[in-house]
Amino acid sequence: MLTRRHLLCCGAAAGLFTSLAGPARAGLLNPCRSAIPDALRPLVERTFDGLDPQQLWDVHTHLLGTGDSGSGCTINAQLSQWWHPVEMLRKRFILNAACVPAGAPSVDRAYVERLHALAEDFPAGARWMLFAFDHACDESGRPDAAHTTFHVPNDYAARIAAEQAQRFAWVASIHPYRPDALARLDAAIARGAVALKWLPSSMNIDLRDPRLRPFYERLAAARLPVIVHCGEERAVPGAGRDELGNPLLARAALEHGVRIVIAHCASLGTALDLDRKRPRPVPAFSLFERLMDEDWGERLLGDVSVVMQTNREPEVARTLMTRADWHARLLHGSDYPLPGIPAAVRLPVLVSAGLLDAADVPALDRLREHNPLLFDLALKRVARWRGARLSPAVFATRAHFERPAVS
Ligand SMILES: [Zn+2]
Repeated sequence: MLTRRHLLCCGAAAGLFTSLAGPARAGLLNPCRSAIPDALRPLVERTFDGLDPQQLWDVHTHLLGTGDSGSGCTINAQLSQWWHPVEMLRKRFILNAACVPAGAPSVDRAYVERLHALAEDFPAGARWMLFAFDHACDESGRPDAAHTTFHVPNDYAARIAAEQAQRFAWVASIHPYRPDALARLDAAIARGAVALKWLPSSMNIDLRDPRLRPFYERLAAARLPVIVHCGEERAVPGAGRDELGNPLLARAALEHGVRIVIAHCASLGTALDLDRKRPRPVPAFSLFERLMDEDWGERLLGDVSVVMQTNREPEVARTLMTRADWHARLLHGSDYPLPGIPAAVRLPVLVSAGLLDAADVPALDRLREHNPLLFDLALKRVARWRGARLSPAVFATRAHFERPAVS
């Protein structure tokens, strides 16, 4: 049965969708420009000043596709059905963020071509870690298509990265409940994956499940980091098991010696404080802070992708900037294509929060229209809180992932 909230939500989305049918009004859509204008050069120079591009790996970049190039990618059918307006709108925004035109002959190819073009604006050495994305699985490890928002096969991520190995590395995604999970992991390691990606709430992965033990042992032995999404997830609902995104659950993997990167530093939503006798919901980010102050050392890392999105509390960015003692364990990531959604980061909101100088807004806004990846990096470089900022260590991420060359 449809609830009133559901109807209201869908009604609002349908209205917004209709309004998008005309020209890109009110800056809601990415205008997808190319070639960076000369007027933006000073901002670009400031962005790279003091950074070594050879160490600059973006640790959080999504691949997406419909499978129209034979990639094996899928997007849940609901995202193309007009009677699911919220889902349809989600797809429209995401594809526009990645500058895939409505009539593109191949969504798969258009997505990758835009990514290649954006990478060209960066100095040699900068690289992106492209994510595969496994299906949600049921308790017995069978893929659950109905709860899979999108799927990107390992083989496709490996192939796209290899096409331009100087620019891209790849991140495998393997649901650990799959009966052949270990064999898949071995194959990914042999093929040069630099990390593994899980989104527990969407994929239905409980990090405490004892079945994960052999998988953890293999990950620890290979020193392969796992990028785990923690905190609430709104872009990829999938299995919808929010409780599995609790940052404290990462301890189960850390205790087995696995290196963990908590995506977005768990900066969205609440999670139960399971350390209390009577657990109650607290900001998920506060649980990330607790973990970072425990004794995990280099084993526990956090990626700073989308932490300045308008749906985050400004306190998150302030804390990340001022905790210089964490900076060697915080990693730059963009969560591309999300920085291509203009409404995701509203710069005046950051100015009001004291995180951004108003004088930087016009150039940042323009840069976003030409290159959202460069915009995302520039924003993280110029944002300040009372003189504190993300130090260059946050952008020197390569050493955490680089693996010996495989023959
Ligand atoms: Zn992501």
